[in-house]
Amino acid sequence: MAANLKGHDSHGVGMVPAYVQNIGAGLLRQDAQAQVVKDNGAVMVVDGQFGFGQVVGRQAADIAMQRVREIGVVCMGVRNCHHLGRIGAYAEHCVEQGFISLHMVNVVGHEPLVSPFAGRQRRLSTNPFCCAVPHTSGHPIILDMATSAVAMGKVRVAYNAGDQVAAGALVDHEGTATTDPAVMYEPPLGALGPFGLHKGYGLAVMCELLGGALAGEWTAQPENLRSHHIVNNMFMLVLDPQAFGGLEKFQYEVNAMVDYLHSTTPAKGAQGVMLPGEPERESMAKRLVDGIPIDDKTWAGLIKAAATAGLDEKEIETLTR
Ligand code: NAD
Repeated sequence: MAANLKGHDSHGVGMVPAYVQNIGAGLLRQDAQAQVVKDNGAVMVVDGQFGFGQVVGRQAADIAMQRVREIGVVCMGVRNCHHLGRIGAYAEHCVEQGFISLHMVNVVGHEPLVSPFAGRQRRLSTNPFCCAVPHTSGHPIILDMATSAVAMGKVRVAYNAGDQVAAGALVDHEGTATTDPAVMYEPPLGALGPFGLHKGYGLAVMCELLGGALAGEWTAQPENLRSHHIVNNMFMLVLDPQAFGGLEKFQYEVNAMVDYLHSTTPAKGAQGVMLPGEPERESMAKRLVDGIPIDDKTWAGLIKAAATAGLDEKEIETLTR
């Protein structure tokens, strides 16, 4: 729900049917806890044991922050998490404690979704990158993005709602640009493209190698399992700004730079310059008042998932009244 409030319906309650399905298939372990499997001081490896990403990811961040309080920096490999959802959630958890965090994530366990720059076939997934810096106003700067032109969940939301996606985000089976989300669901299948041409593709490769090969145990290469699983491996760097040039100077520069960026005259027709993280804050303020819109197909999926999870019709009706 927090992801929905922040405007990322792609990573919100619409994922519940997939989670319920994976619990049933034994691919998501409801009781799993994050386990430290290697501890070399500033370098740690944590295994999520295929537990709820939302649980084990947060536990991993807590373990990292405990160490950062002692030594100022932690570089952590977090492997085998069931879908971590919105990566910004873990970054927010770190910046709330005054730390900087950086996350490079790969996505495995299913067929790849994203074609490399200048290629046709799918070779990677939406490999998110996230970096967050605290701000004294309590409004941290949070860059949190898929390295594909759009997140796969956003294609799902558009497909469910009968909408088109933004131009430049998808290619059909011949590698031709299309705005029709059906190419990701109905044969002949197309692919998501990387954002920012070769640069986004390059960042996706680094997320794959640091997230999947260094921090995790598997990348998207074809020898590895592809069984409708949703697994995230995350390379995570957590830093205490106090351990570097001192907190006061850091905060002064961050505040001054944020003000400088905000003072930019808006481009013709634009509303104004924002910092990464602001659109999510705006969405949250609005949705806390107006509620979260959910399209009919997503809602039907949730009701079906509730029935699959064992709720009878009357219970579902009572809960959704
Ligand atoms: P997006 O394109 O909506 O936003 C990307 C970033 O740009 C955000 O930090 C946002 O604050 C910033 N931004 C947006 N508009 C801006 C503007 N006008 N000015 C300045 N900054 C602006 O995000 P996305 O790429 O669609 O990703 C959505 C979510 O999907 C993310 O939370 C990501 O973690 C998640 N994701 C998760 C997985 C996974 O496997 N768990 C995979 C891919 C994506």
